[in-house]
Amino acid sequence: MDELLEQLVEECRGCTSQGKVATYIPELAKANPEELGIYVLQSDGRHCQAGAYQKRFTIQSVVKPILLLLALMDNGEDYVRARVGVEATGKPFDAINMTDQTLFSDHINPMVNMGAIAMCTLIKGSSYEERFQRLLELTRKLAGDPEIRLDEAVYLSEKRTGNKNRALAYLLKTYGMIEDEVEEVLDCYFKACSISVNSKDLAHIAFVLANRGRLPQTDERVFSRRYAHYVNAILMTCGMYDGSGDFAVNVGVPAKSGVGGGIMAVVPTRMGIGIYGPSLDEKGNSVAGIQVLKGLSERMYLSIF
Ligand code: GLN
Repeated sequence: MDELLEQLVEECRGCTSQGKVATYIPELAKANPEELGIYVLQSDGRHCQAGAYQKRFTIQSVVKPILLLLALMDNGEDYVRARVGVEATGKPFDAINMTDQTLFSDHINPMVNMGAIAMCTLIKGSSYEERFQRLLELTRKLAGDPEIRLDEAVYLSEKRTGNKNRALAYLLKTYGMIEDEVEEVLDCYFKACSISVNSKDLAHIAFVLANRGRLPQTDERVFSRRYAHYVNAILMTCGMYDGSGDFAVNVGVPAKSGVGGGIMAVVPTRMGIGIYGPSLDEKGNSVAGIQVLKGLSERMYLSIF
């Protein structure tokens, strides 16, 4: 398996030139577009890796399923479902998904920015700093990595330039979908996106979702089977934004991408996969990362379809 991963990384490295690193968050423009890494954790405890799997990068949108998990754990499914919908938007991650008239909770998808901003308000905590700390703790626990920290430079870079997200948050406020102070909510969102992880961390988080809420090794339950089902289903339909259909056809597993170059892929009952490849396609998904996953899925029959 190590050899297969090495081979896939070498094969797919060439397609990094078909994409570009994100530049709309200035700090992300510093990434090396040619880097590519993968880490796989399997249900029998074996793991394998290739390329830049130790490289740290910001989690960006891959935090959205963790935000959703924490919102579910704090409030239960009915409460969350009444405020954040599950239908795919079929639109880019930063789209303003609304009709001319008003905004309904069914328009709010947890895997795109508007939904994730709304979910920050559903996390329990006496301050937004405390909410963020609880999210960071859950991320560390799922990844089994107490070293996970905030990347201060990326956080400040996005806070300074994130006006599209400000627009989305003010729309949510206008339509009564959030009540708290917009800048405080956004501060939590920007910090959430700036958690620094590596491919191994993403593979471990994906593994817990694949393992229906239980950690590897200890088998400790962190969240219910139902929540794993709920989150995996949403990842399948919207985890790759408006590229989710294509990804379902070509790879066929629940997954989440982020503009930092990460992809977390969940192969239910079998494995968790973490990818790093900061060269992105026009939808904001890792170009080479998708190719590596396609190759792995074909050779190991990973598609759930
Ligand atoms: N922090 C990023 C943003 O809000 C997350 C987007 C992404 O990873 N697709 O724009």
